[in-house]
Amino acid sequence: HATPLPNFIRYIMEEDLRTGKFGGRVVTRFPPEPNGYLHIGHAKSICLNFGLAADFGGYCNFRFDDTNPSREEVEYVESIQADVHWLGFDWDDRLYYASDYFEQLYDWAVQLIKAGKAFVCALSPEEMREFRGTLTAPGKESPYRNRPVSENLDLFARMRAGEFPDGALTLRAKIDMAAPNINLRDPVMYRIKHDPHHRTGDSWCIYPMYDWAHGQCDSIEGITHSICTMEYEDHRALYDWYLEQLGIHHPQQLEFARLNLSHTVLSKRRLIQLVQEGLVNGWDDPRMPTLAGLRRRGYPPAAIRTFCERIGVGKRENLVDLALLEYCVREELNRWVPRVMAVLHPLKVVIENYPEGQVEELEAINNPEDPAAGTRKVPFSRELYIEREDFLEEPPKKFFRLSPGREVRLRYAFFLKCIGMVKDPATGEVVELRCTYDPETRGGDAPDGRRVKATLHWVSAAHALPVEVRLYDRLFSVPHPAAEEGDFKQFLNPNSLETIRPCWVEPTLANAAPGSHYQFERQGYFCVDPDATKGNLIFNRTVTLRDAWAK
Ligand code: ATP
Ligand code: MG
Ligand code: MG
Repeated sequence: HATPLPNFIRYIMEEDLRTGKFGGRVVTRFPPEPNGYLHIGHAKSICLNFGLAADFGGYCNFRFDDTNPSREEVEYVESIQADVHWLGFDWDDRLYYASDYFEQLYDWAVQLIKAGKAFVCALSPEEMREFRGTLTAPGKESPYRNRPVSENLDLFARMRAGEFPDGALTLRAKIDMAAPNINLRDPVMYRIKHDPHHRTGDSWCIYPMYDWAHGQCDSIEGITHSICTMEYEDHRALYDWYLEQLGIHHPQQLEFARLNLSHTVLSKRRLIQLVQEGLVNGWDDPRMPTLAGLRRRGYPPAAIRTFCERIGVGKRENLVDLALLEYCVREELNRWVPRVMAVLHPLKVVIENYPEGQVEELEAINNPEDPAAGTRKVPFSRELYIEREDFLEEPPKKFFRLSPGREVRLRYAFFLKCIGMVKDPATGEVVELRCTYDPETRGGDAPDGRRVKATLHWVSAAHALPVEVRLYDRLFSVPHPAAEEGDFKQFLNPNSLETIRPCWVEPTLANAAPGSHYQFERQGYFCVDPDATKGNLIFNRTVTLRDAWAK
């Protein structure tokens, strides 16, 4: 675990612990709405909430904020839990649902009605918007604002009993229609929705609004620090107002800047469109910024946690470059991922002076970063595949790889010299190289001290396994699609997925399990797709290598 960086929330918690504000405890919560899959923005919130709680010896509750039945589904409830576990966090038995508190929230609403602090309103949504006023003009009071308490109690009970259709009535807090903060202009607490809920079924046809639910749920659970994104800064006055009126445990709401990541979108509302319109292959498409997508792509959870630590926690929104995330992924994979050889775009090589039918095993290093990873044997024979782009018939000045008459090193094997080419008579394309090898150079060096300027990866044609490889590029071709004019979907990168097959991998990969990671030497990090089977391996490119390894 990396040493946590200081941030303003951490300072506030330290101070609160010092002064004993919440009885010397830190209790946080992660409160996702089950209306989509989690994305890497949520990871920032998860790492923050679970991380801070752990660092201060407190705990973090997992709470589904399931107050809007029309968008919520069990599929999301399940995926969200799986994704948080995958990211490396656990909530033991502290799993809660806002819907478990519906009865208590109802009772508290009744309490506010009795105190003359809430009323049943019959304004239509349009009227309500008009009455609300603007930033510069105060609002107008609802004509229903001064209903007697007894009438409010009766109507609210009948709202619950299902006597009214959707939208006919709302319960509103009675605060101040002239408040400079529009959130305090008699906000709606309950709306009618005859919609079955994934947990409470048809028990309820009135549902609490976010603001009415959230603080009270925090209070019930004894949360001390309720951490949310900056959009809720203007809601804090309302959060505080409800808790003060009820006179119950009052957590501190703290806001931080949400994560924006370049070349993608981080909002379930937008991501769901990509899924529903078939613009990606589901929530776990490896191009998606969802945790399920990143997992399938091969991003290790430790890299995501490191990324969340590195971006820090502040109050000002910015756009984090995807390159930083990719850097964290490489850094993590580099430490422990085994290296193998794979040829993505094959060009056949025939070694004329290598005996036909002979096979020898060469020793290859599994991970130069980790001597304990040991070595493996890879077969070498007369016919190989090399990468097509490692050969040029007419090489430009700085091209040091294979070309006619030139000698290069084959990784873990021998020096190889190109002595001829076979071309397709129709297209003129080079389809095969005729070469010789120098048996004296086994292991990579020439006894006579002669040097080569390039080392190529290769596989033995007769032994290599044909596989499918999926190369991914950024999902959007502009840095901040959500900030562009018009529909964000018009900025999708049309070339974000390239599927190539057959590619050829060394035979040691025959039993590669779905989810396992490999570095294809000189190509990048790859991960076996969950759809792969033993005879039909599919590799997703997680990330390319640093450009540093000279080609
Ligand atoms: P979305 O806009 O994607 O629907 P949301 O905030 O509505 O996001 P919730 O399920 O309510 O989604 O989020 C759970 C928690 O994750 C909240 O506390 C929210 O503030 C946090 N969160 C969501 N998106 C981000 C983000 N991009 N960066 C940091 N935290 C985020
Ligand atoms: Mg939300
Ligand atoms: Mg949302």
